[in-house]
Amino acid sequence: MEQSVDAIVIGAGVIGSSVALELARGGRQVVVVDKGLGAGAGSTSASSSIIRYSYSTRDAILTAWEAAQMWFDWERHLGTVDPDGMARFVECGNLILRTTGYDGTAITPWWDEFDIPYEDLDAAALRQRFPVLDVGKYYPPKLIDDPAFADEAIGELTALYSPNCGFIDDPMLSAKNLAYAARQHGAEFRFRSEVVSINQADNAVSGVTLASGESLTAPVVVNVGGPHSSIINTMAGVTDDMTIGHRALRQEVFTAHAPVGLRLEDGAPFVSDLDVGQYFRPQIGGTLLIGGSEPECDELHWIDDPDTNSEYPTVEVWETAMMRVARRVPEFGVPSQPVGLAALYDASDDWVPIYDRSNLYGFFMACGTSGNQFKNAPIAGQYMRAIIDATMGGHDHDAEPVQFAGEHTGQMINLGAFSRRREKAITSGTVMG
Ligand SMILES: Cc1cc2nc3c(=O)[nH]c(=O)nc-3n(C[C@H](O)[C@H](O)[C@H](O)COP(=O)(O)OP(=O)(O)OC[C@H]3O[C@@H](n4cnc5c(N)ncnc54)[C@H](O)[C@@H]3O)c2cc1C
Repeated sequence: MEQSVDAIVIGAGVIGSSVALELARGGRQVVVVDKGLGAGAGSTSASSSIIRYSYSTRDAILTAWEAAQMWFDWERHLGTVDPDGMARFVECGNLILRTTGYDGTAITPWWDEFDIPYEDLDAAALRQRFPVLDVGKYYPPKLIDDPAFADEAIGELTALYSPNCGFIDDPMLSAKNLAYAARQHGAEFRFRSEVVSINQADNAVSGVTLASGESLTAPVVVNVGGPHSSIINTMAGVTDDMTIGHRALRQEVFTAHAPVGLRLEDGAPFVSDLDVGQYFRPQIGGTLLIGGSEPECDELHWIDDPDTNSEYPTVEVWETAMMRVARRVPEFGVPSQPVGLAALYDASDDWVPIYDRSNLYGFFMACGTSGNQFKNAPIAGQYMRAIIDATMGGHDHDAEPVQFAGEHTGQMINLGAFSRRREKAITSGTVMG
């Protein structure tokens, strides 16, 4: 017999599990189907899981700040305690080095408006607070075979310090926590269940078919397939109506020994360094996590079939990342071999996510998460529920975007900012959003 439910969520990552929780909380009978082995085992498991508020637009900043309140009190957000353990927010602060093209002017007016705490640091304060850092300006970021790589600094940097930022100690566990909470509201999670077609009847979605041949029916289907979500949107035939594209982008992230001054116990922040083109943050256990920020000189590796991505990092990207960090941190000991992983972002054209309906009635998408939406997972589930409730209730979210009241700030967030049909937002054009 065909399984028939109120809503099918495709993907049990941190965002899919959050969508499932919120739909189940709203009284829907939900089934989550995932081709993998467990919640959070997709791109979520590779996430640097950084929580920060430094986006380029009002609604993105507000979204991150509202979502952060949920991470700050995770048990309250979940409404339960997962007996297998709870993910934990580790507050370490974020140091944003101001450089050409990324000087913080798009950010601080919103931080002032929403009372998001920060400090302005001039070069002297930066040197005094974080003596482990070289405060030289080396812009633009360069590849290591560029003869200008070793050039002297062309000036000194200033910075913004955002004290309430940090990271989640175990991103996969956070997805499991959301899945556990969703199950308490009756959601069912089915793993090793790959969706191979999106079914339609009478100009509306009617369900999905799995690789096993089994069909599930539902009036609501939500695509939260992470780096596979563009394939799922293509399956549903909804891409022609979208002005914003999104596709899988390979990303390498490394671990290295942290010098004194850059460890958690030293009070080290995570550092957003678009001046050299990297970010790095302390990890539990005395190591540094190092990732890239897509400077113009770095080639972007777009991937057509996410299942073919090699999980192993490359020596070229690793060497570049290490040498750039060594530029910023003279005490950094470049390791002798790469330790890290290569995973996939689902990058949108403007690095802003798509949380939206589609032109197929009943088919919704939470995708294009652009390497920067882990932090927003708890609120993304709520956004999707608001859009789904409104749309299924007859509201035209395209014509009149749903407005969402932020619980912490009381500010209204325009969910049209995440429309699949928006004009490209003006952003940093990088993972910073
Ligand atoms: C290296 C890296 C670093 C990052 N760092 C940060 C960070 O510091 N801060 C931040 O905010 N964000 C960060 N992100 C982004 C963030 O991790 C992602 O936006 C988020 O985890 C995406 O969650 P998701 O649930 O949408 O997707 P996923 O976790 O990828 O889940 C998608 C699921 O869909 C399933 N699926 C796919 N196709 C099908 C199908 N046909 N049938 C059934 N199931 C299917 C997959 O098995 C998978 O489990 C990073 C991402 C990466 C890759």
